[in-house]
Amino acid sequence: MLTGKRALVTGSTSGIGLAMARALAGAGADVMLNGFGDADAIEATRSALETDYGVTAHYNGADLSKPDQIEAMMQDADAKFGGVDILINNAGIQYTANVEDFPPEKWDAVIAINLSSVFHTTRLAVPYMRKQNWGRIINTASAHGLVASVQKAAYVAAKHGVIGLTKVTALETAETGITANAICPGWVRTELVERQIEARAKEGGISIEEAATNLVSDKHPSKQFVTPEQIGQTALFLCSDAASQMTGTHMSVDGGWTAQ
Ligand code: NAD
Repeated sequence: MLTGKRALVTGSTSGIGLAMARALAGAGADVMLNGFGDADAIEATRSALETDYGVTAHYNGADLSKPDQIEAMMQDADAKFGGVDILINNAGIQYTANVEDFPPEKWDAVIAINLSSVFHTTRLAVPYMRKQNWGRIINTASAHGLVASVQKAAYVAAKHGVIGLTKVTALETAETGITANAICPGWVRTELVERQIEARAKEGGISIEEAATNLVSDKHPSKQFVTPEQIGQTALFLCSDAASQMTGTHMSVDGGWTAQ
């Protein structure tokens, strides 16, 4: 389905991004990975994509808090691929504190990585997509792009911003073959969430598994975590012809969280 397409997935060395990269590679797309982590582990992940799916996989370690590194990453993707057909903006970090205690440098970091990087990759990817008259921009927002929770000022602001940026991008490209959409996951048990589960376990003096159950049950009527693979398949759907008239919207995959 995606043979011949070239995808850049930011924040794809673990969690949701890696599952999305795998889903796209499984459908035949060449993939460029991005994100932090142990160099050997990243290389193993990259080469496994090639052997498992018979696609070409590259890696670029740009720090997405730095616009000059984002530009260099996009140039690297152009040099290696000739352009990016599918842009998945997925890199993200979390920091929790009440707004009056929120360290300004943490605010800046969350906004830079979770929101501003989406602006930079998008502005750099759209010209090529316009030339091809085809493109898919998929932004990993969050249930927190739609509703708020305490202690997540920067994250909630950034994710609401991502949904706004997605809508503007969609309107500006509406008469082309480009679509721009957001995916809004609820709780997915990745590194980013594992740290929040650990904090909850420590605070309540309860086991990790009890804390995980409490965390998911507080928000998801389903009382179950979403899996990274389910988000990967959602991204794949957004790349399909069936989704070519879906643009400027979001898909919630959140166990019913935002239906409440
Ligand atoms: P994760 O921590 O497993 O993945 C985050 C990825 O971003 C990693 O590859 C990491 O290396 C990368 N990253 C972090 N800072 C970076 C930087 N400065 N430059 C480049 N890469 C950087 O977490 P995840 O849960 O898979 O998160 C992926 C996305 O999904 C994030 O945008 C997150 O906000 C969003 N999300 C997660 C959940 C959840 O419950 N896990 C829910 C909703 C939305």
